[in-house]
Amino acid sequence: MTTSDSIYQELQSNLEQEHLMLSKDLKHEMQLNTLVPSALAIENADLNNLIMMAKSAFIPNLFDLAIRMEKVDAAVCSIKLGMYGLCVDCEEEIDESELKADPAQPRCHACCDHSRYHHD
Ligand SMILES: [Zn+2]
Repeated sequence: MTTSDSIYQELQSNLEQEHLMLSKDLKHEMQLNTLVPSALAIENADLNNLIMMAKSAFIPNLFDLAIRMEKVDAAVCSIKLGMYGLCVDCEEEIDESELKADPAQPRCHACCDHSRYHHD
């Protein structure tokens, strides 16, 4: 195993833990704000539905959780696809330092700058 592999493994396990925690927090907050009729409804809801509901709730805390969940979920998906650490725009490898700063970072530095100017 190379150094880089073990770093990736660590980042990936951090991401999976964050994913688990976020999904608990998100469900908990939604229940507190009674956005869904029951705990059972939350358990049965699709994660994407939960994210959508949370984002449209206009509750700042919940909105932030949903945005972060979306980002972390995308990163966890990319692990499953074997695409983790590759930029979603140009498919170049994302710098390790960027991934360490945020393991859910979906873009390389160049594309980040680009998207900041053109999409946000
Ligand atoms: Zn890129």
